[in-house]
Amino acid sequence: MPMARNPVLAILTALFLSLTLAPGAVPMAGAAAPETPAVKDGTKALPLVVVVSTGGTIAEKTDPKTGGAVPTVSGDDLIAAVPGLAALARIEVVNYSNIDSSQMTPERWAGLSRAVDAALARPEVAGVVVTHGTDTMAEGSFFLDATLTSDKPVVFTGAMNDASSPFPDGPGNLYNAVLQVCSPASRDWGVTVTLNGYINSARDVRKTQTTNVQTFESGEKGYLGYITSGTVSRFNDRLRRVRLPLPETLPKVAFLATYAGDDGAFVRHAVDDGAKGIVIDGVGSGNVNEAVYGAVKYALSKGVVVVISTTVYYGSVEPVYGDLGGGLMLEKDGCILAGDLPGQKARLLLMLGLAGYGPDAAKLKALF
Ligand code: ASP
Repeated sequence: MPMARNPVLAILTALFLSLTLAPGAVPMAGAAAPETPAVKDGTKALPLVVVVSTGGTIAEKTDPKTGGAVPTVSGDDLIAAVPGLAALARIEVVNYSNIDSSQMTPERWAGLSRAVDAALARPEVAGVVVTHGTDTMAEGSFFLDATLTSDKPVVFTGAMNDASSPFPDGPGNLYNAVLQVCSPASRDWGVTVTLNGYINSARDVRKTQTTNVQTFESGEKGYLGYITSGTVSRFNDRLRRVRLPLPETLPKVAFLATYAGDDGAFVRHAVDDGAKGIVIDGVGSGNVNEAVYGAVKYALSKGVVVVISTTVYYGSVEPVYGDLGGGLMLEKDGCILAGDLPGQKARLLLMLGLAGYGPDAAKLKALF
């Protein structure tokens, strides 16, 4: 992040931002420009950005007892560690939680969605940055992308190196996320995941590397944009955003990945265990073997909705193969094919769809 090493550039950038952003701060097509109060000298105040902190490596430090990283840093401390932020925006912090994102649940994301929507509903708020762990950031950002009612920008960010690291990537990511919220270039992108300068849509993003700072990719769909030297460059518009009401409670939906020799026992168990829906990560273009096919027919006969996704990274699930368990047969028997949506996101979408429409196959199919 050049700003930290070059105070002159920081001042120039602050001057530039106060000259360019103030008059029509954050002019977004979908959302009305937020009200920005005048400061004493009559110039417009900087945009107001709410940072909602949930935990993750960005907020983790080494525990001297175990030597492992644990969430300890508050949202306020995260903000305090970012040089030059005050020149970009006025910041309000909401400490929503402080957990490793391996502990996140759809219920916790529902609460987060309500908190973020409440902040966005305030006319003076330009947008929200959510700090979150990277392990489930792709899924969490997708849940909010589907359930938020506001069109204002929401940027998920985090870190791959924790706050005890000599090379923490968190402060730079947080700076860029706030800059993105304040930038007119970031309109109509819905919820994004922005780390290491790259901007991904919540629908297409996946974590691709376990430790490298350049871990989030959007595969064949590509990045929405890139941030460098205080500027947001827009590469692409957002293609598709599915939106559903946020229900009070979420139905039980299982997610299973099939494998060679799978006897279908886990599918049958999920049905007997009360799942209302099951998402199965099939192989190839969305195929399962004969034993799993039998278990799928058992699930369908019990009124359980079955969605087929794939373990394959690129491409989409297609009704191509006609043998017992092939995608064509699964679709003919009433399964929904997840298209290009990864299995864990398909599970969240099925949960929201079932809560909104019940087991209405036609309406649910239209979501995928
Ligand atoms: N385990 C961490 C988490 O997801 C990983 C990270 O944030 O990079 O919360």
